[in-house]
Amino acid sequence: MSECLFCRIASRESPADVEYEDDEIVAFKDIYPKAPVHVLIIPKRHIASVMTAEPEDVGVLGRCLLVARRLGEVKGFAERGYRIVVNSGVDGGQVVDHIHFHFLAGRRPSRG
Ligand code: AMP
Ligand code: ZN
Repeated sequence: MSECLFCRIASRESPADVEYEDDEIVAFKDIYPKAPVHVLIIPKRHIASVMTAEPEDVGVLGRCLLVARRLGEVKGFAERGYRIVVNSGVDGGQVVDHIHFHFLAGRRPSRG
């Protein structure tokens, strides 16, 4: 079993509230939501961080943004918008070392 929590979620070895899945990507609800809608979008293949991303990762990382677009449309935020956050590295607040896009919607972010 993988030591990486999000690899285990991607392979369904660990539970998650999955909102979207395809061959390369899975999106699931954040267990500690910081907004009324808080979904994490991840590539199934382990990429640790933006800080270690390689040119061959560009396709799947771009498709993660299209999954965000789709979530926005399905959940009714296509017009009002939403926030996409990618914490990167220790000083960037990244706690789980498997790259993930936070999809946050339903509340206007505070400035800063
Ligand atoms: P980050 O600080 O950018 O690494 O974000 C990690 C996120 O993963 C946090 O928002 C956590 O609430 C979330 N998280 C941690 N464990 C789980 C889990 N088992 N299922 C869903 N979300 C999780
Ligand atoms: Zn992983």
